[in-house]
Amino acid sequence: MDRRVRCYDCGKTYRLEERQRCSCGEPLWFDTDADAATFEWPDDDWTAGMWRYADVLPVSATATEPMGPVPGATPLVRAADLDEYAGCSLHLKPEGQNPTGSFKDRGTAVGVAYGRRDGHDWIGTVSHGNMALSTSAYAAAAGLEAAVFVPADTPTERLELIARHGARIFRVEGDYGRLYAETLALETDGGRFVNSDTPLRVAGQKTVAYEILEQFRPSAPDAIVLPVSSGGQASGVWKALRELETAGLLDSEDVPRLYPVQAAPCDPIATAYREDRATVSAIEPGETIAVSIANADPPSGTRALTAARETGGAVVSVSDEATREAMDRLATTAGLSVEPSSAVALAGVRELSRRGELDADDEVVTILTGSGYKERYDVDVESRTRTIDLEAVERELAAVVGS
Ligand SMILES: *Cc1c(COP(=O)(O)O)cnc(C)c1O
Ligand SMILES: [Zn+2]
Repeated sequence: MDRRVRCYDCGKTYRLEERQRCSCGEPLWFDTDADAATFEWPDDDWTAGMWRYADVLPVSATATEPMGPVPGATPLVRAADLDEYAGCSLHLKPEGQNPTGSFKDRGTAVGVAYGRRDGHDWIGTVSHGNMALSTSAYAAAAGLEAAVFVPADTPTERLELIARHGARIFRVEGDYGRLYAETLALETDGGRFVNSDTPLRVAGQKTVAYEILEQFRPSAPDAIVLPVSSGGQASGVWKALRELETAGLLDSEDVPRLYPVQAAPCDPIATAYREDRATVSAIEPGETIAVSIANADPPSGTRALTAARETGGAVVSVSDEATREAMDRLATTAGLSVEPSSAVALAGVRELSRRGELDADDEVVTILTGSGYKERYDVDVESRTRTIDLEAVERELAAVVGS
Protein backbone atom coordinates (compact mmCIF):
# COMPACT_ATOMS: atom_id res chain seq x y z
CA MET A 1 0.00 0.00 0.00
CA ASP A 2 1.31 3.44 -0.85
CA ARG A 3 0.84 5.45 2.30
CA ARG A 4 1.29 9.18 2.43
CA VAL A 5 3.26 11.08 5.01
CA ARG A 6 1.88 14.42 6.15
CA CYS A 7 3.25 17.55 7.77
CA TYR A 8 1.50 18.12 11.12
CA ASP A 9 2.08 21.85 10.68
CA CYS A 10 1.33 22.90 7.08
CA GLY A 11 -0.59 19.78 6.05
CA LYS A 12 1.42 19.08 2.90
CA THR A 13 1.64 15.37 1.94
CA TYR A 14 4.33 13.29 0.22
CA ARG A 15 5.32 9.70 -0.46
CA LEU A 16 7.84 8.48 2.14
CA GLU A 17 10.22 7.63 -0.73
CA GLU A 18 10.08 11.26 -1.78
CA ARG A 19 10.87 12.97 1.50
CA GLN A 20 11.26 12.25 5.23
CA ARG A 21 10.88 15.93 6.09
CA CYS A 22 8.50 18.63 4.85
CA SER A 23 9.68 21.41 2.54
CA CYS A 24 8.55 23.83 5.30
CA GLY A 25 11.27 22.35 7.49
CA GLU A 26 9.01 20.51 9.95
CA PRO A 27 8.94 16.71 10.38
CA LEU A 28 6.41 14.42 8.70
CA TRP A 29 4.32 11.56 10.07
CA PHE A 30 2.19 8.86 8.50
CA ASP A 31 -1.24 9.89 7.42
CA THR A 32 -3.14 7.15 9.29
CA ASP A 33 -6.23 9.16 10.21
CA ALA A 34 -8.43 7.11 7.89
CA ASP A 35 -7.29 3.87 9.55
CA ALA A 36 -7.75 5.42 12.96
CA ALA A 37 -11.35 6.33 12.17
CA THR A 38 -12.32 2.64 12.18
CA PHE A 39 -9.92 1.49 14.90
CA GLU A 40 -11.30 -0.51 17.80
CA TRP A 41 -9.47 -1.93 20.81
CA PRO A 42 -8.12 -5.37 19.89
CA ASP A 43 -9.03 -8.50 21.86
CA ASP A 44 -7.22 -9.35 25.06
CA ASP A 45 -4.29 -11.28 23.60
CA TRP A 46 -1.14 -9.27 24.27
CA THR A 47 1.35 -11.87 22.97
CA ALA A 48 1.87 -9.94 19.72
CA GLY A 49 3.18 -6.98 21.75
CA MET A 50 2.77 -3.67 19.92
CA TRP A 51 1.81 -5.50 16.70
CA ARG A 52 -1.68 -5.84 18.14
CA TYR A 53 -2.14 -2.27 16.86
CA ALA A 54 -1.16 -3.28 13.30
CA ASP A 55 -4.41 -1.77 11.98
CA VAL A 56 -3.02 1.72 12.62
CA LEU A 57 0.58 0.98 11.63
CA PRO A 58 2.02 1.47 8.13
CA VAL A 59 3.21 -2.16 8.04
CA SER A 60 2.48 -5.38 9.93
CA ALA A 61 4.80 -7.79 11.71
CA THR A 62 4.40 -10.46 9.05
CA ALA A 63 6.71 -8.38 6.87
CA THR A 64 9.53 -9.33 9.23
CA GLU A 65 9.07 -13.09 9.34
CA PRO A 66 10.84 -14.56 11.16
CA MET A 67 9.73 -11.86 13.53
CA GLY A 68 12.63 -11.68 16.00
CA PRO A 69 12.24 -9.64 19.18
CA VAL A 70 8.69 -8.48 20.01
CA PRO A 71 8.47 -4.97 21.42
CA GLY A 72 5.66 -3.51 23.47
CA ALA A 73 3.10 -4.94 25.91
CA THR A 74 5.08 -3.41 28.76
CA PRO A 75 3.08 -3.21 32.00
CA LEU A 76 1.50 -0.13 33.53
CA VAL A 77 2.56 -0.11 37.17
CA ARG A 78 0.70 1.78 39.89
CA ALA A 79 3.41 3.18 42.19
CA ALA A 80 1.43 4.35 45.25
CA ASP A 81 4.52 4.37 47.47
CA LEU A 82 5.89 7.19 45.35
CA ASP A 83 2.69 9.29 45.36
CA GLU A 84 3.87 11.56 48.12
CA TYR A 85 7.22 12.12 46.45
CA ALA A 86 5.55 12.71 43.08
CA GLY A 87 2.73 14.87 44.44
CA CYS A 88 0.06 12.98 42.46
CA SER A 89 -1.33 9.52 41.82
CA LEU A 90 1.61 7.93 40.04
CA HIS A 91 1.66 5.24 37.35
CA LEU A 92 4.86 4.04 35.68
CA LYS A 93 5.33 2.65 32.17
CA PRO A 94 8.68 0.80 32.33
CA GLU A 95 9.77 0.82 28.71
CA GLY A 96 13.12 -0.61 29.74
CA GLN A 97 11.32 -3.96 29.60
CA ASN A 98 11.43 -3.90 25.81
CA PRO A 99 13.84 -6.46 24.29
CA THR A 100 16.84 -4.12 23.96
CA GLY A 101 15.95 -2.07 27.03
CA SER A 102 14.25 1.03 25.65
CA PHE A 103 11.12 2.28 23.88
CA LYS A 104 13.22 2.71 20.72
CA ASP A 105 12.35 -0.93 19.90
CA ARG A 106 8.83 0.11 18.94
CA GLY A 107 9.96 2.46 16.20
CA THR A 108 12.79 0.21 15.11
CA ALA A 109 10.44 -2.74 14.63
CA VAL A 110 8.26 -0.70 12.25
CA GLY A 111 11.30 0.66 10.39
CA VAL A 112 12.80 -2.80 9.91
CA ALA A 113 9.48 -4.42 8.92
CA TYR A 114 8.83 -1.67 6.37
CA GLY A 115 12.32 -2.02 4.93
CA ARG A 116 11.92 -5.76 4.62
CA ARG A 117 8.62 -5.31 2.86
CA ASP A 118 10.37 -2.98 0.41
CA GLY A 119 13.03 -5.64 -0.21
CA HIS A 120 15.73 -3.53 1.41
CA ASP A 121 19.01 -5.01 2.54
CA TRP A 122 20.16 -2.35 4.99
CA ILE A 123 18.80 0.14 7.53
CA GLY A 124 20.64 3.19 8.83
CA THR A 125 20.43 5.28 11.97
CA VAL A 126 22.16 8.22 13.65
CA SER A 127 22.21 7.66 17.40
CA HIS A 128 23.98 8.17 20.72
CA GLY A 129 23.21 4.66 21.93
CA ASN A 130 19.78 3.15 22.56
CA MET A 131 18.47 3.59 19.04
CA ALA A 132 21.68 2.22 17.56
CA LEU A 133 21.49 -0.84 19.82
CA SER A 134 17.83 -1.38 18.98
CA THR A 135 18.40 -0.98 15.25
CA SER A 136 21.30 -3.41 15.16
CA ALA A 137 19.35 -6.08 17.09
CA TYR A 138 16.18 -5.92 14.95
CA ALA A 139 18.17 -5.68 11.72
CA ALA A 140 20.04 -8.84 12.71
CA ALA A 141 16.77 -10.70 13.31
CA ALA A 142 15.38 -9.55 9.95
CA GLY A 143 18.52 -10.29 7.96
CA LEU A 144 19.26 -6.63 7.19
CA GLU A 145 22.63 -4.93 7.51
CA ALA A 146 22.63 -2.14 10.11
CA ALA A 147 24.67 1.00 9.38
CA VAL A 148 25.03 2.95 12.61
CA PHE A 149 26.45 6.48 12.79
CA VAL A 150 27.54 7.60 16.26
CA PRO A 151 29.28 10.74 17.51
CA ALA A 152 33.05 10.25 17.61
CA ASP A 153 33.15 10.52 21.41
CA THR A 154 30.68 7.68 22.09
CA PRO A 155 32.16 5.47 24.86
CA THR A 156 33.46 2.09 23.70
CA GLU A 157 31.28 0.20 26.25
CA ARG A 158 28.22 1.49 24.44
CA LEU A 159 29.63 0.43 21.10
CA GLU A 160 30.24 -3.09 22.46
CA LEU A 161 26.51 -3.54 23.03
CA ILE A 162 25.78 -2.38 19.49
CA ALA A 163 28.60 -4.28 17.77
CA ARG A 164 27.50 -7.53 19.39
CA HIS A 165 24.58 -7.73 16.93
CA GLY A 166 26.90 -7.36 13.95
CA ALA A 167 26.18 -3.73 13.00
CA ARG A 168 28.61 -1.64 10.95
CA ILE A 169 29.55 1.33 13.14
CA PHE A 170 30.82 4.70 11.92
CA ARG A 171 32.26 7.14 14.44
CA VAL A 172 31.56 10.52 12.91
CA GLU A 173 33.55 13.68 13.60
CA GLY A 174 31.56 16.85 13.09
CA ASP A 175 28.21 18.37 13.93
CA TYR A 176 25.60 15.83 15.09
CA GLY A 177 22.61 17.92 14.00
CA ARG A 178 24.00 18.22 10.49
CA LEU A 179 24.77 14.51 10.34
CA TYR A 180 21.16 13.80 11.38
CA ALA A 181 19.65 16.03 8.71
CA GLU A 182 22.03 15.13 5.92
CA THR A 183 21.55 11.37 6.29
CA LEU A 184 17.79 11.87 5.89
CA ALA A 185 18.28 13.90 2.74
CA LEU A 186 20.62 11.33 1.12
CA GLU A 187 19.40 9.57 -1.99
CA THR A 188 19.89 5.99 -0.88
CA ASP A 189 19.56 2.65 -2.60
CA GLY A 190 18.40 -0.59 -0.99
CA GLY A 191 17.75 0.96 2.40
CA ARG A 192 16.87 4.09 4.31
CA PHE A 193 17.68 5.99 7.47
CA VAL A 194 15.22 5.58 10.33
CA ASN A 195 16.39 8.36 12.66
CA SER A 196 14.70 9.49 15.91
CA ASP A 197 11.79 11.51 14.58
CA THR A 198 11.23 9.98 11.14
CA PRO A 199 7.73 8.86 10.10
CA LEU A 200 8.39 5.13 10.52
CA ARG A 201 9.86 5.59 13.97
CA VAL A 202 7.07 7.88 15.15
CA ALA A 203 4.52 5.36 13.85
CA GLY A 204 5.99 2.60 16.02
CA GLN A 205 6.52 4.81 19.02
CA LYS A 206 2.92 5.97 19.12
CA THR A 207 1.99 2.46 20.31
CA VAL A 208 3.20 3.25 23.82
CA ALA A 209 0.28 5.67 24.15
CA TYR A 210 -2.19 3.19 22.65
CA GLU A 211 -1.08 0.79 25.38
CA ILE A 212 -1.31 3.37 28.16
CA LEU A 213 -4.82 4.39 27.15
CA GLU A 214 -5.91 0.77 26.76
CA GLN A 215 -4.43 -0.21 30.13
CA PHE A 216 -6.19 2.74 31.74
CA ARG A 217 -9.66 1.91 30.49
CA PRO A 218 -12.42 2.72 31.18
CA SER A 219 -11.02 6.08 32.31
CA ALA A 220 -8.04 8.01 30.95
CA PRO A 221 -4.99 9.44 32.73
CA ASP A 222 -4.99 13.18 33.41
CA ALA A 223 -1.41 13.61 32.25
CA ILE A 224 1.48 11.80 30.54
CA VAL A 225 5.00 12.90 31.49
CA LEU A 226 7.98 11.83 29.39
CA PRO A 227 11.64 12.70 28.86
CA VAL A 228 12.34 14.38 25.53
CA SER A 229 15.36 14.64 23.28
CA SER A 230 14.60 14.77 19.53
CA GLY A 231 10.87 14.97 20.24
CA GLY A 232 10.18 11.75 18.32
CA GLN A 233 8.49 9.89 21.16
CA ALA A 234 6.47 12.94 22.26
CA SER A 235 5.29 13.27 18.65
CA GLY A 236 4.22 9.63 18.62
CA VAL A 237 2.30 9.98 21.87
CA TRP A 238 0.55 13.10 20.60
CA LYS A 239 -0.35 11.36 17.32
CA ALA A 240 -1.81 8.40 19.21
CA LEU A 241 -4.01 10.67 21.32
CA ARG A 242 -5.26 12.43 18.20
CA GLU A 243 -6.01 9.10 16.53
CA LEU A 244 -7.86 7.72 19.55
CA GLU A 245 -9.95 10.87 19.57
CA THR A 246 -10.67 10.35 15.85
CA ALA A 247 -11.62 6.74 16.60
CA GLY A 248 -14.11 7.93 19.22
CA LEU A 249 -12.23 5.96 21.91
CA LEU A 250 -11.11 9.07 23.78
CA ASP A 251 -13.41 12.01 24.52
CA SER A 252 -11.97 15.42 23.70
CA GLU A 253 -12.29 16.54 27.31
CA ASP A 254 -10.40 13.41 28.48
CA VAL A 255 -7.28 13.86 26.33
CA PRO A 256 -4.33 13.67 28.76
CA ARG A 257 -2.10 16.72 29.06
CA LEU A 258 1.40 16.08 27.68
CA TYR A 259 4.42 17.17 29.66
CA PRO A 260 7.79 16.76 27.93
CA VAL A 261 10.70 17.03 30.40
CA GLN A 262 14.32 17.90 29.69
CA ALA A 263 17.60 18.02 31.61
CA ALA A 264 18.29 21.64 32.60
CA PRO A 265 21.85 21.72 31.20
CA CYS A 266 20.46 20.94 27.71
CA ASP A 267 16.85 22.12 27.43
CA PRO A 268 16.08 23.88 24.14
CA ILE A 269 12.38 22.89 24.15
CA ALA A 270 11.81 23.96 27.76
CA THR A 271 13.63 27.20 26.98
CA ALA A 272 11.31 27.94 24.05
CA TYR A 273 8.30 27.15 26.26
CA ARG A 274 9.55 29.41 29.06
CA GLU A 275 10.17 32.24 26.64
CA ASP A 276 6.76 31.71 25.05
CA ARG A 277 8.28 31.24 21.60
CA ALA A 278 6.44 29.56 18.71
CA THR A 279 9.41 27.48 17.60
CA VAL A 280 12.39 25.75 19.17
CA SER A 281 15.90 26.78 18.20
CA ALA A 282 19.33 25.32 18.96
CA ILE A 283 21.05 26.20 22.23
CA GLU A 284 24.61 25.97 23.51
CA PRO A 285 24.49 22.77 25.61
CA GLY A 286 26.05 22.04 29.00
CA GLU A 287 27.04 18.64 30.40
CA THR A 288 24.35 16.40 31.92
CA ILE A 289 24.14 12.87 33.32
CA ALA A 290 21.06 12.39 31.11
CA VAL A 291 23.18 11.57 28.06
CA SER A 292 20.41 9.89 26.04
CA ILE A 293 18.39 13.10 25.94
CA ALA A 294 21.14 15.67 25.48
CA ASN A 295 20.08 17.11 22.12
CA ALA A 296 20.79 20.82 21.72
CA ASP A 297 19.04 21.07 18.34
CA PRO A 298 16.02 18.72 18.45
CA PRO A 299 14.58 17.93 14.98
CA SER A 300 11.04 17.55 16.39
CA GLY A 301 11.44 20.17 19.09
CA THR A 302 8.73 22.44 17.73
CA ARG A 303 6.38 19.49 17.23
CA ALA A 304 6.90 18.42 20.88
CA LEU A 305 6.35 21.99 22.04
CA THR A 306 3.14 22.14 20.02
CA ALA A 307 1.98 18.82 21.48
CA ALA A 308 2.42 20.18 25.01
CA ARG A 309 0.56 23.41 24.23
CA GLU A 310 -2.29 21.80 22.28
CA THR A 311 -3.02 19.30 25.06
CA GLY A 312 -2.85 21.89 27.83
CA GLY A 313 0.48 20.63 29.16
CA ALA A 314 3.83 22.36 29.62
CA VAL A 315 7.55 21.75 29.12
CA VAL A 316 9.89 21.83 32.10
CA SER A 317 13.49 20.95 32.80
CA VAL A 318 15.13 19.50 35.93
CA SER A 319 18.58 19.58 37.49
CA ASP A 320 20.90 16.57 37.43
CA GLU A 321 20.63 16.52 41.20
CA ALA A 322 16.84 16.10 41.03
CA THR A 323 17.29 13.42 38.38
CA ARG A 324 19.74 11.47 40.53
CA GLU A 325 17.33 11.60 43.46
CA ALA A 326 14.42 10.40 41.31
CA MET A 327 16.58 7.58 39.94
CA ASP A 328 17.40 6.44 43.50
CA ARG A 329 13.73 6.55 44.52
CA LEU A 330 12.72 4.41 41.57
CA ALA A 331 15.40 1.84 42.37
CA THR A 332 14.86 1.65 46.14
CA THR A 333 11.08 2.19 46.32
CA ALA A 334 9.68 0.78 43.08
CA GLY A 335 12.42 -1.78 42.29
CA LEU A 336 13.00 -0.20 38.90
CA SER A 337 16.51 0.50 37.69
CA VAL A 338 16.33 3.15 34.97
CA GLU A 339 18.92 5.26 33.23
CA PRO A 340 19.21 8.96 34.20
CA SER A 341 17.43 10.03 31.00
CA SER A 342 14.32 8.16 32.19
CA ALA A 343 14.51 9.36 35.79
CA VAL A 344 14.28 12.89 34.39
CA ALA A 345 10.57 12.22 33.84
CA LEU A 346 9.89 11.45 37.52
CA ALA A 347 11.94 14.46 38.58
CA GLY A 348 9.75 16.38 36.13
CA VAL A 349 6.57 15.09 37.77
CA ARG A 350 7.81 16.39 41.12
CA GLU A 351 8.65 19.75 39.60
CA LEU A 352 5.25 19.98 37.88
CA SER A 353 3.52 19.23 41.19
CA ARG A 354 5.58 21.90 42.90
CA ARG A 355 4.42 24.38 40.26
CA GLY A 356 0.78 23.41 40.63
CA GLU A 357 0.56 21.95 37.09
CA LEU A 358 -0.25 18.58 38.69
CA ASP A 359 -2.15 18.01 41.90
CA ALA A 360 -2.65 15.14 44.34
CA ASP A 361 -5.81 13.91 42.57
CA ASP A 362 -4.24 13.75 39.14
CA GLU A 363 -3.66 10.30 37.64
CA VAL A 364 -0.26 10.70 36.04
CA VAL A 365 1.58 8.24 33.77
CA THR A 366 5.35 8.61 33.67
CA ILE A 367 7.13 6.93 30.79
CA LEU A 368 10.39 5.37 32.01
CA THR A 369 12.04 5.23 28.63
CA GLY A 370 15.11 3.08 29.22
CA SER A 371 16.62 0.41 31.46
CA GLY A 372 19.33 1.08 34.02
CA TYR A 373 21.06 -2.24 33.41
CA LYS A 374 23.27 -1.10 30.57
CA GLU A 375 25.55 1.31 32.34
CA ARG A 376 27.50 1.59 35.54
CA TYR A 377 26.39 4.11 38.11
CA ASP A 378 28.14 5.86 40.88
CA VAL A 379 26.56 3.93 43.75
CA ASP A 380 28.16 3.68 47.20
CA VAL A 381 28.69 -0.07 47.32
CA GLU A 382 31.22 -0.03 50.14
CA SER A 383 28.85 1.33 52.79
CA ARG A 384 26.39 -1.49 52.06
CA THR A 385 28.93 -4.30 51.82
CA ARG A 386 31.03 -6.29 54.29
CA THR A 387 33.26 -9.30 53.96
CA ILE A 388 32.49 -11.89 56.65
CA ASP A 389 33.42 -15.46 57.61
CA LEU A 390 31.13 -18.31 56.69
CA GLU A 391 30.65 -19.04 60.42
CA ALA A 392 29.36 -15.51 60.97
CA VAL A 393 26.50 -15.62 58.48
CA GLU A 394 23.71 -16.35 60.96
CA ARG A 395 24.84 -13.79 63.53
CA GLU A 396 25.46 -11.06 60.95
CA LEU A 397 22.15 -11.67 59.23
CA ALA A 398 20.29 -11.40 62.54
CA ALA A 399 22.09 -8.14 63.27
CA VAL A 400 20.92 -6.68 59.97
CA VAL A 401 17.36 -7.94 59.59
CA GLY A 402 16.50 -8.21 63.28
CA SER A 403 14.87 -11.24 64.86
C1 LIG B 1 15.85 8.30 22.84
C2 LIG B 1 15.56 8.38 24.28
C3 LIG B 1 14.78 9.42 24.82
C4 LIG B 1 14.27 10.57 24.00
O1 LIG B 1 13.42 10.23 22.94
P1 LIG B 1 13.16 11.22 21.72
O2 LIG B 1 12.20 10.49 20.86
O3 LIG B 1 14.48 11.43 21.02
O4 LIG B 1 12.63 12.50 22.25
C5 LIG B 1 14.49 9.39 26.17
N1 LIG B 1 14.98 8.41 26.97
C6 LIG B 1 15.74 7.41 26.50
C7 LIG B 1 16.23 6.37 27.44
C8 LIG B 1 16.06 7.35 25.14
O5 LIG B 1 16.83 6.36 24.67
ZN1 LIG C 1 5.13 21.46 6.39
